[in-house]
This record gives sequence, structure tokens and C-alpha cells, in this order.
Amino acid sequence: MRIGVPKETAAGERRVALVPEVVARLVEAGHEVVAERGAGSAASFEDGAYTDAGAQTSDTVWDADVVVKVQKPSAEEAARLRSGAVLIGFLQPLTDREGIDRLAAQGVVAFAMESIPRITRAQAMDALSSQATVGGYKAALIAADRLPRFLPMLTTAAGTVQPAKVLVIGAGVAGLQAIATARRLGAVVFGFDVRSAVKEQIESLGAKFLDLGVKGEETAGGYAAELTPEQQAQQQAELEKRLPDFDAVITTAAIPGRPAPKLIPASAVEAMRPGSVIVDLAAETGGNCELTKPGEEIQTNGVTIVGRLNLPSEMPFHASQLYARNVQALLNHLAPEGSLVLDFDDEITAGACVTRREET
Ligand code: NAD
Repeated sequence: MRIGVPKETAAGERRVALVPEVVARLVEAGHEVVAERGAGSAASFEDGAYTDAGAQTSDTVWDADVVVKVQKPSAEEAARLRSGAVLIGFLQPLTDREGIDRLAAQGVVAFAMESIPRITRAQAMDALSSQATVGGYKAALIAADRLPRFLPMLTTAAGTVQPAKVLVIGAGVAGLQAIATARRLGAVVFGFDVRSAVKEQIESLGAKFLDLGVKGEETAGGYAAELTPEQQAQQQAELEKRLPDFDAVITTAAIPGRPAPKLIPASAVEAMRPGSVIVDLAAETGGNCELTKPGEEIQTNGVTIVGRLNLPSEMPFHASQLYARNVQALLNHLAPEGSLVLDFDDEITAGACVTRREET
């Protein structure tokens, strides 16, 4: 198969869908890979590394059999895809109906990385998890950087410094990575999630579970179900009482396909100590804090609220490397013998496919 790797064009996007290490494996498996000139340069993968790995570099990658992307293509890019071509990327099928309809009208067979079922067999393809790992790590580093204090306890000739207290709300993949990173930096860490099964995972990382007395339901897929309005009000009230104890709060709470639940009302931010920091990883879907401004970093009453978007793109080398391995695992699944065999009775293929031609 001829696999095309365009340079990402979405604002601020520095990742690339295939890195040279993965290109070499695909070429070895008999595929032809064409990378757009400069495709990986923002992630520190130069064109020479792609050609060394066996790829061609070219300006025309959109006519390939399979086009692999990180972000969904723009309308203009999508128009360059061939009818019958396969497209792989974060295509936002739950929120970008127009984009998906456009691909369908063009006869593109599109696979959304976020729609791959999160079953054991598909773990190697789980790009939501690989990118959430990067986001959670980076969120802890941002919190540490913005705090006007140390994270670890220090004993110095000038006296002892008490460790910072960090709270991580939402202990899925990103939250657990944020907990682990803040722990390694020496903070005293607490975690909270509405899924009670997570308590043990939080504790296994050396953090404490903050009991807010709110327990949500879990869906069959292992995700949290949306809280009832009463539960949400209870969670907000409890957090308002507890937040002044913490120096940094990292929020990652999400419900797939829904706006982020509002957990921290403005009144709770007001109650926090000056110098405290909130890093809101849920800013992508509106934010867990009422005052978060997606894409911005603001200060209010001495509290810094970081609503930066697309944190994985801020660590593009490893984010791309992990993503590329996820893409390779999906390609191996769709083309186990080297050419595409799309079996729509298969749970992974059917789950990930968001547009297909009638005859496929
Ligand atoms: P996510 O990004 O959708 O949500 C992040 C976290 O927010 C979740 O842990 C969720 O429970 C929590 N949350 C939602 N509402 C909340 C609220 N009001 N207050 C506090 N927390 C709230 O989730 P994710 O990190 O992508 O993964 C969620 C689940 O999927 C986990 O159970 C994880 O173990 C599971 N998972 C399974 C696989 C697999 O089997 N292959 C892979 C990855 C993740």
C-alpha cells in the first residue's frame, strides 16, 4: 500500500502521524511511505530521517491509498483525498458531523482513532490513552512550573520547606499520569474520581483518595456516566470546602462526547489561596472550572488558571512516537498481509470506521 503522511496544518499542531522508526517497519513490511516535506520537523524528525527509513519525501501525499493524520483534515485537504482512499486520524466523529459527512460524500473510508473500541485486543492502537499519558505528564509539569513554591519537602540550612499539596480530579489515563508525575516531583498528592474502582489505582501510585462522598455510575465501556444535577451540586459544594487546602489542582474529568462537567465553580476559586494553580486539562471540551478560558492562562484573585489546549502537541517527539505506534497497530489490523482486508464483522474495524463506501 502507498501510505501518505501529510504535514499537520491545524494551528499549533506539532505532532506527526508517522515517525521514522515506524516508517522503517512499514517499509520492511512491503509498504511504500510518502512523507510530505517537513512533515515531522516540528516534532524534531527531519526529512533525512524519513528518507533513511525508506520513505520518499514529496509534496503530494494526498493521493495515497492510505493517508495518516493526527488532526482531522481541513475541507481543502479532504477534497484532495481519492474516492476509496483510507483516512486515519483523530476525526472527531462525535463533534464534527459536517467533516464526517464531507468524507462520506467523497467516498473516503475513514477510521477515527478515538472510536477504536477500548478492548484488550486493541490496546496497542489506543491513541486516546497514549496522548492522555502525555497530557497528564505535561499538566503536572505546568502546575509545578506555575507554583511559586517547591513541590518536594526540602530540609536546608535555611530551614525546612513543606511539600506542596496537589489534587488531581478525574483519575483516568491522564489523571493517573499526572498523579504519578506530581508524586515523583515530591508533592503530597490526592486524587478523586467518581468511579469508585479508581481508588485502588490512586493509592497504588502513593497518592491518597479524597473522599467527596460522590459516587457515579460506570458505563459498560468503563467510562463514567454523567452525574445527576444533585450529585453535581454535592460535588461542587464538597470541592469548595476542600480546595483551599491545595496548592495545585489538576482537572481531567471528562464524559465522552459531552461538554466537560463543571466541577469548580467561581466561588470555589475565590476560596483558594493566592499563588494556587489550576491546570484544566478538560479545557478542550469547555473546562472543569467555571472560570477556565480555553486556550488561555489567566489570573484571578492571585489564582492561576491554565486552560491551554492540545498539551500532547507541546511534547511532540514522544507524543508522535506513541501515536505512530498506535497507527501502525491499526494498519497491521486493517492490512494483516500487506493489503487492506476490511472485515466489518470485526469489532475494531467496525468500531473505528466512521465512513465507508456502500460496496466496502
Ligand atoms: P476520560 O478522559 O473520558 O475521563 C477522565 C476521567 O474523568 C475518568 O476517569 C472519569 O471517570 C472521570 N470523571 C468523569 N466525570 C467526573 C466527575 N464529575 N468528577 C470526577 N471525575 C470524573 O477517561 P479515560 O482516561 O480516557 O479512560 C476512562 C476509562 O477507560 C478508565 O476506566 C480506563 O481504565 C478505561 N480504559 C480502558 C482501556 C482498555 O481496556 N484498553 C484503555 C484506556 C482506558
